[in-house]
Amino acid sequence: MLYLFQNIPIIGTLKPFSDWRKDISRFIWQGRKPRIKLKNLSDDRTRGGMNLPDLRLYYESTAISWIKDWLLQKNKKMLNVEGFNLKSGWHVHLWGSPDKNEKKTFRNHIIRDSLNKIWEEYKKRMFPKTPMWLSPLDLIQKSYQRKSNWPTYRDLLTTQGNNYVLKSQEEIVISFKQVTWLHFRQIKEQFNIDNQTGFMRKDSDWEKILESENKTITKIYKKLLEWDTETEYVKTCMTQWARDIGRPIMYEDWDKIWNKNIKFTYAADLKENQYKMQYRWYITPKKLGHYRKNTRTKFWKCQEKEGNFFHMWWTCTKSKKYWNEIHKECGKIMKKNLQMRPELYLLGLTNTKLDMNEEKILNYLIIGARIVFARVWRSNQIPSIAQWLSKIWDIKNMDKLTFLMRKHQGTPMKETDWSNFEEYTRLRMTHEGKVT
Ligand SMILES: [Zn+2]
Repeated sequence: MLYLFQNIPIIGTLKPFSDWRKDISRFIWQGRKPRIKLKNLSDDRTRGGMNLPDLRLYYESTAISWIKDWLLQKNKKMLNVEGFNLKSGWHVHLWGSPDKNEKKTFRNHIIRDSLNKIWEEYKKRMFPKTPMWLSPLDLIQKSYQRKSNWPTYRDLLTTQGNNYVLKSQEEIVISFKQVTWLHFRQIKEQFNIDNQTGFMRKDSDWEKILESENKTITKIYKKLLEWDTETEYVKTCMTQWARDIGRPIMYEDWDKIWNKNIKFTYAADLKENQYKMQYRWYITPKKLGHYRKNTRTKFWKCQEKEGNFFHMWWTCTKSKKYWNEIHKECGKIMKKNLQMRPELYLLGLTNTKLDMNEEKILNYLIIGARIVFARVWRSNQIPSIAQWLSKIWDIKNMDKLTFLMRKHQGTPMKETDWSNFEEYTRLRMTHEGKVT
């Protein structure tokens, strides 16, 4: 797909992308009503998304990586082919103001025109100030001098305190012998104009991306994605969680869930549960009643109150009983006083001081409890502690196996210390033995 985009960057409208988006959504949800916004799915994993590729952004990234050649003007051969009928230089078209006829000529070329549309859409956001790749002489010269290799601001400027200043003519001539005193005066003139808006920092993101030699498209894509999903920063589900819990959840907390907790969950079912909780995936009688008339909206387990997401997972007396038991056992296993809070058990947010191993174990215990609970989601059952422990046992085996596999593959990870859990199980077994 990328290859295709890279070689035919001539998609003039956004129509195909919205069609593809619809097709992808239809495919993911199999014709049912989508339960997670597509934008959330395509967001980066580090922000709680699932890295589903966004084709439009891929297309735009390949286009920008193409435009990169126009900006940096290193690949002269290519530029001559693509700009065969241009009178003024590339920088005049991309950053300056070409005259009307020139503009028309530029646009009257299918590849140049469609790439330029994308450039116009992003350029001010990428470079709010005068960019470093800009060559003032290219901008000034009325006719395009194909052979010339003029210095860019990156070559011409040097820092003085917090500002960029122009190097002296003597300094410039060391690397650019072709710069005469006339050129230098022109540079100075253009510098004064550009200095009014100021200059991009040499080490700013986009300057660095354009200068980089490899994985450029990936880097551009990441950046565009970050912009695209900015509005989704506070996702609807986060607001709902905050409302249920009764306090705002700090961004650092979500960040911890996405970037730290998720690393403990190599197994797909654990990861899946974590995402499903975050996105409040589980179907509720309330939702069903919303779609189908005459459906009873009472919670399946208590048959008393309306079954909304939070009642089902937490506030219902029946669910609460389950969590109270889990809480008691977790305290015994961890040998810690944990707080009985929904954000701990439903989202995995700890506020007790724990070391890495403890965090990991607690995370397993909690996710295990949720998976076992979700298994009987539609029934009136409440899972037993024994069922929960057997799931934790599975997780423990999986964790050990992962450790051994990694070791074997030469990408070792820290071995989990399960001794507290093992001790707990031994005690529990001898206790049960005595009772019977
Ligand atoms: Zn209830």
